[in-house]
Amino acid sequence: MALLTTFYWQFTLPIPHTSFITQANTIAMHLIAKHLLRVLTVKKYCPHCQKALDVPAMSAYDEHFDCPHCGIALMHNEKDIFIYAIVFIVAITVPLIALFNVNSFIAIAIALVGYRLLRPHFFEPRFRIKHVSE
Ligand SMILES: [Zn+2]
Repeated sequence: MALLTTFYWQFTLPIPHTSFITQANTIAMHLIAKHLLRVLTVKKYCPHCQKALDVPAMSAYDEHFDCPHCGIALMHNEKDIFIYAIVFIVAITVPLIALFNVNSFIAIAIALVGYRLLRPHFFEPRFRIKHVSE
């Protein structure tokens, strides 16, 4: 939240709010900031009964969790988990090795630990929810 607020002010603050164009620019930046906030706090819906639900953390359940409305067994989409993990680990490991000459084992270890620490806050809210048997 603090990061987004910083992002928002960096774009809006230096613009003098005088002409119509800068006003429109400010409004556009405001809309972008609002959209980013919504992406980060995205609401999840049960794929079976379509009702909004609070998704538990991945570390809080073993194989599945139950929809509080219809009781169906749900889980995070493992394709999303896999794709986000691979993209993040490659995006961290390759620059560490190529630009900073970090030992590749250490670079992978840093990426893995980083992913594990950031996942509950930055990645899990983006994973889709699916029915267990799909
Ligand atoms: Zn449901």
